[in-house]
Amino acid sequence: MEVERADTGERLTMSAGWFFCASGYYRYDEGFTPDFPGRERFTGRIVHPQHWPEDLDYRGKRVVIIGSGATAVTLVPAMAETAGHVTMLQRSPTYIVPVPSEDRIANALPKLVGRTRAYAIARRKNIAKQRLVWRFCQQHPSAARRLIRHLNAKQLPKGFPVDEHFKPAYNPWDQRLCAVPDADMFTAIREGRASVVTDRIETFSERGIRLASGRELDADIIVTATGLKLLAFGGISLSVDGDKVALPQKVAFKGFMLNDVPNFAYMFGYTNSSWTLKVGLICEHFCRLLGYLDHHGYRICYPQLPGDMATRPLLGVAAGYVQRSADQFPRQGDHGPWRTCMDYRADYQTLRQGPVNDANLRLATASSVAAQLSA
Ligand SMILES: Cc1cc2nc3c(=O)[nH]c(=O)nc-3n(C[C@H](O)[C@H](O)[C@H](O)COP(=O)(O)OP(=O)(O)OC[C@H]3O[C@@H](n4cnc5c(N)ncnc54)[C@H](O)[C@@H]3O)c2cc1C
Repeated sequence: MEVERADTGERLTMSAGWFFCASGYYRYDEGFTPDFPGRERFTGRIVHPQHWPEDLDYRGKRVVIIGSGATAVTLVPAMAETAGHVTMLQRSPTYIVPVPSEDRIANALPKLVGRTRAYAIARRKNIAKQRLVWRFCQQHPSAARRLIRHLNAKQLPKGFPVDEHFKPAYNPWDQRLCAVPDADMFTAIREGRASVVTDRIETFSERGIRLASGRELDADIIVTATGLKLLAFGGISLSVDGDKVALPQKVAFKGFMLNDVPNFAYMFGYTNSSWTLKVGLICEHFCRLLGYLDHHGYRICYPQLPGDMATRPLLGVAAGYVQRSADQFPRQGDHGPWRTCMDYRADYQTLRQGPVNDANLRLATASSVAAQLSA
């Protein structure tokens, strides 16, 4: 295996039996910023959260945060603590759900059953709760919409236009929900420290932002919380025996290997639950696979497609930041281990309890590799 550093051009040759890619799924050096017209005219400061300036002093300032995702809803209450006023400017609403910042059951359990059992119970409870919420949203979208609206309205001042700012066009969990701890964002709105505007940006101006409705938002600082740029495998270019691997032509196997790419594994988590919940299962399965290969003397392992298979995008999420980059990622198949599962219970059976060997895996021992090399 050879590794070349793109930043210094330094070439390192490292020897390893496997390459395990834990690079996350987005670009670390650059976030996504739409092309805002008139941007250069704005005389205040423009900040992207991925490049937060250490010296940014927003005390008493008028801040406009563009966006309505996890980053925006986290920044709004945090900045509203000292800013003059914070306006969250969104093109369209997102589901925002208040959740307690502390898990009272998890906190009480250790006194009753001891720390180790308490942790196991709390973990199970939270996994079950999350699954239940997701299922409820999928099976009863109208009831889920009504419930979220009720939770939002309860936190907002009387007469607040809830539907204008907190009623998305899609159903709950068709995109990831945003959780706000102890309803902190709603508290900031209630106390007048923050507000929400749902509109389209016509242009940046010297003083702030002019909206399609004709309204002007004055600002000292504009924060573009407009999202991530997804990046497959940290932008690492893979090749096998000198041939470059074309990722969009590859199909994911059990959600952690690619067809015909030997001794390569990667991590990808859930998009409908905690990301790391699946990552834990994958790592366990991968370790079991390594143990199996060692035990039987296999040196090479890769999945092979059983024939023509219909494929679909690896990430089945409708969010804009996923759609923008879907064609740079590998794909998933439509059945069996070629389908990337998003269900914890099914994954538990496959990845934790299921066998690591599979009819789709091709395995080679040290002697067969040596024979091939000397041929
Ligand atoms: C705003 C936001 C909120 C989130 N909230 C949650 C949440 O509540 N729950 C949850 O489970 N998940 C959440 N996630 C998902 C979160 O990304 C994962 O839970 C977790 O951080 C993924 O861990 P990871 O180790 O796979 O990747 P990362 O944490 O992204 O780590 C990847 C590492 O690889 C390095 N790297 C990347 N490319 C290269 C390269 N080419 N060469 C060398 N090094 C490289 C990076 O520098 C980084 O250190 C959230 C993500 C975002 C952006």
